[in-house]
Amino acid sequence: MSKFHVKKGDKVLILTGKDKGKKGKILQVFPKKERAIVEGINLMKKHTRPTQKSQQGGIVEREGTICISNVQIICPNCGVATKTGNCEMDKGKVRVCKKCKQDIDK
Ligand SMILES: [Zn+2]
Repeated sequence: MSKFHVKKGDKVLILTGKDKGKKGKILQVFPKKERAIVEGINLMKKHTRPTQKSQQGGIVEREGTICISNVQIICPNCGVATKTGNCEMDKGKVRVCKKCKQDIDK
């Protein structure tokens, strides 16, 4: 398990930046850079050139990475953005919601 509090597929709340307060799902995590890509967050316009695949060039919007420390996980049990704690359970270490004390990884 990674040392980060979030992982791919988690729903998170954005804490800072232009997308502050928005929610999205984590699409990818880059542990070495401590950054992540969140669905619909930090969209950046990219200019593309016409290629053989797509005849038309143009502008596409793609998610840019954001710092992992700028997101907070949304508990799937109580729906609140929360800090997570680690808890030793029979199946190993799991992340638990600090609000409802439920296992987030179940
Ligand atoms: Zn909870």
